[in-house]
Amino acid sequence: MGSSPTRFVIIGNGAAGTYCAEELRKNDPACEIVLIDDEPYTLYNRVSLPRYLKGVLLEQRVYVRDLEWHTKDRIDLRLETKATLVDFDHKTVAVEPGGEIAYDRLLLATGGRPNPLRVPGAEGQKALFNFQYFDEAKAISARIAESKVGVVLGGSFIGYELTEAMAFRKLETHWLMRGPHFLRKALDADGGEVVRLLAQDEGVHFHAEESIDQVEARNGSMRVTTSAGATIDADIVGVGLGLTMNIDVFRDTALQTNVGILTNEYLETNVPDVWAAGDVAEFYDVVSQRHHRMGTWDNSLNHGRHVARNMLGAKQPYVEVPTYASGMFKSNISVMGVTTEEEPRAEGLVEVDLEGRNYKRLFFLEGGDGQDRLVGAILVGKMKGRKRILELISTRAPIEERHQVFEMLATPEAGAKRATPSE
Ligand SMILES: Cc1cc2nc3c(=O)[nH]c(=O)nc-3n(C[C@H](O)[C@H](O)[C@H](O)COP(=O)(O)OP(=O)(O)OC[C@H]3O[C@@H](n4cnc5c(N)ncnc54)[C@H](O)[C@@H]3O)c2cc1C
Repeated sequence: MGSSPTRFVIIGNGAAGTYCAEELRKNDPACEIVLIDDEPYTLYNRVSLPRYLKGVLLEQRVYVRDLEWHTKDRIDLRLETKATLVDFDHKTVAVEPGGEIAYDRLLLATGGRPNPLRVPGAEGQKALFNFQYFDEAKAISARIAESKVGVVLGGSFIGYELTEAMAFRKLETHWLMRGPHFLRKALDADGGEVVRLLAQDEGVHFHAEESIDQVEARNGSMRVTTSAGATIDADIVGVGLGLTMNIDVFRDTALQTNVGILTNEYLETNVPDVWAAGDVAEFYDVVSQRHHRMGTWDNSLNHGRHVARNMLGAKQPYVEVPTYASGMFKSNISVMGVTTEEEPRAEGLVEVDLEGRNYKRLFFLEGGDGQDRLVGAILVGKMKGRKRILELISTRAPIEERHQVFEMLATPEAGAKRATPSE
């Protein structure tokens, strides 16, 4: 690299990419930083989009960084610019528009794109939406304002967020999901029932094990035919059907990918001088001792800051217990560590109070020493005990009696606070 400043190129200006750029500048005043993104916006908080959709948060409050911040920190931000090819041998990124950018060190933080609804009649419907980008949030919000009936398909968090926003804005809201209940791989039937009751309390029509078979345009709105043979005339349809990772650009290269981009615990890929971070990184997690991807804001932010230090020469493993916290209608949900969604061998233990709409599920795995360990948990309703759960997961403390963990959670803990994703 000689005496010229190191040039860091980052593809993706989401939380992972932007916080990496910030940390690079903090630690290396001389380096060059080029940040490329195909969207037209500086960093905005995707976690804030549901509140924007509900109409309780103004557009300006969704942005996390503005253009001036990039200028002040000398970050060469290229918006509406797509990386179309990476030549790892010659260390260049082809961008459109703009030609070619050479890098010394490269971060891939390209996140994922939402899967579309693929049923007859769905393609080209103007009031049928995914929910990932700011532009989509703006279009959905405008459409809700002129709608009476909404249909949502999706039994995970995006499906929930769309349902909640439509119900909050007083639409007759139908929530469809293919599985028997919300988060079908992580919750059991009791947990699913608590979420169904919370939805019902807000007037939502809940349709489990029911999907969309067909969509037809009708007088400016849509007729939705469901897999149960029912029809719903809807003014708006929203879908949350998971993400496909943005790794197409790296196809036919030496970069190792699976669902996302494979990295070790230092977030290094198999290609020299190339790292990956955020949603797209399928990283080796030293806490759960396995490769996995996280789709959370805090993980992307922490990945971004952490990978910057490794790109500058440190070699520190990324060590964090994964967490996801969200509203759940007028209640809360928190997911920590590993659940049966990622680790089907994990055994769950449940405490439920349907009346109070409270639910706790703890996940245990037997370690190589024959001792049980708490590896994850889901709480719906009361968040008490969250801090203690995180401690038990991160310290990998052996558990003698599984049910005793519930008793530990019931005792007061110092400094515990409500879980919200940081912004
Ligand atoms: C509606 C919604 C609600 C959410 N709620 C929560 C929540 O409550 N709690 C929580 O923890 N998480 C939540 N999340 C998830 C969280 O927001 C994401 O995990 C996080 O923002 C991902 O950040 P990232 O930097 O990894 O990727 P992204 O934010 O996806 O950024 C990647 C960027 O790279 C761009 N890009 C991709 N390919 C290219 C290319 N070839 N060239 C140029 N640019 C490219 C993309 O367009 C994108 O702008 C929510 C997400 C959404 C959509």
